[in-house]
Amino acid sequence: MTERYPMIVAGEERPSAATIEVRDKYTGQTFAEVCAAEPPDVERAIAAAHAARPAMAALTARHRSDIIRAAAGILDSRRERLALAIAREAGKPLKYAAFEVERTVENLEYCAEEAKRIHGETVPLDAAKSGAGAFGWYERHPAGVVAAISPFNFPLNLAAHKLGPAVAAGCPVILKPASATPLSGIELVRAFVEAGLPAGAVSCLPGSGEAVGDPLVSDPRVAKVSFTGSRAVGERIVRRAGLKRVTMELGGNCGVAVDEAVPDLALAARRCVFGAFYNQGQVCISVQRIFVHRAVYDVFLEQFLAETAKLKVGDPTDKDTDIGPVISEAEAVRIESWIAEARSQGARILCGGTREGSVVRPAVIAEAERDMRVMRDEIFGPVVVINPADSFEQAVAAVDDSEYGLQAGVFTGDIGRALRAVRRIDVGGIAINDVPTVRFDHMPYGGNKGSGLGREGARFAIEEMTTIRMVVVNRAP
Ligand code: NAP
Repeated sequence: MTERYPMIVAGEERPSAATIEVRDKYTGQTFAEVCAAEPPDVERAIAAAHAARPAMAALTARHRSDIIRAAAGILDSRRERLALAIAREAGKPLKYAAFEVERTVENLEYCAEEAKRIHGETVPLDAAKSGAGAFGWYERHPAGVVAAISPFNFPLNLAAHKLGPAVAAGCPVILKPASATPLSGIELVRAFVEAGLPAGAVSCLPGSGEAVGDPLVSDPRVAKVSFTGSRAVGERIVRRAGLKRVTMELGGNCGVAVDEAVPDLALAARRCVFGAFYNQGQVCISVQRIFVHRAVYDVFLEQFLAETAKLKVGDPTDKDTDIGPVISEAEAVRIESWIAEARSQGARILCGGTREGSVVRPAVIAEAERDMRVMRDEIFGPVVVINPADSFEQAVAAVDDSEYGLQAGVFTGDIGRALRAVRRIDVGGIAINDVPTVRFDHMPYGGNKGSGLGREGARFAIEEMTTIRMVVVNRAP
């Protein structure tokens, strides 16, 4: 039976004539319907959020922390239902969907803790020649209404990366979830309403980018846009948002450099398989390009292919599945065409790449050239390129040779080489002896170059949702 979900406007569950069908990404069947927001709903949500600013700002740090912790507890009590919803709406293998719920709870717990630590500091104004007798401090205040726009690939946790910090900072927040995966967003906002947020302070508005996203980001009552998604949509939002605070968490095309001197090459290969194919490669920090020192290239490749062959491809609601469908058949067709293009340009497809509906078998490509699409652009699918490099330094340079700069990984037993790689690669995060796909929800996270503006991770996201107010006191008579 098709379950019907309401939207949530200013804390109230509301019906709507317009609906979005939510498909099970493996079977293709519609299993839920979500009420879609129309222009009057968007207006009500913005007006209510704007009006709720004083009530949100008046909550004590303790109270904000308690609300976030309560929301985390509510989600935790529903973890099995949520994991299944994610597995179906996103096609995410159940074990990873369950991990996403667990991370979301932990992520909100960090926000609850950080909500008690939002403070400014004193500033020694008498360091200035003209500052004798002056002293001062800065305070942090809520930035105002936050528009939170989230992508499909981590539909619960990436929305929580916006709602948790917004509530911690004392900001009303309106979530626009991805149209392919709206259920997680509704469940998240429901939990915050049940946890006791002031009336009007939170909404979840399912709907398309044009119908909901555009009016949200361009409204002058919205003070801050927190967006996670593709570079193309991020650029459009920045253009429309005008003079607003924006945090942009955009795409990636992460690389890994593997040295000849690696303490455990088999472990490196196993981690790279995970990094390349986790969530069918639909992870902004997925491993897309691997450059391996020629001395160990053949062994690494053999280990990588053997490990890939073990992956179980199929129904994401099966607890043993490693690889489910990508988000839509259209995306699967696109991914398949990029692989075919690489083949026609001379690359070798060592395994996978075949498609059945929206399931693409994990593909390993060798001898791809730097200007091929599979090397240059973000593929966002279960596809990885593994190329040899003449030296570790050459591998590191190749990792950095990208318009994207989200994260990177280096495997080496030489600490000096590892630290040189940290200085050399222009990314927002780098893993030593691990894949770029590692992310802990309280670390500063965000890309350099074409991968973003601003940082997420509990404390860092909260800071981005506050404004600073400097207070200057002149003691001189
Ligand atoms: P997307 O197509 O850019 O969509 C992201 C969100 O933006 C969705 O909610 C989408 O709504 C919305 N949107 C579309 N047009 C809009 C508009 N004009 N105004 C406002 N919002 C609009 O991205 P996706 O396909 O969901 O996610 C994949 C991308 O996200 C990849 O590039 C991936 O690397 C990136 N990502 C980055 C991070 C990070 O932390 N850096 C994390 C995860 C994913 P609809 O669904 O209704 O179109």
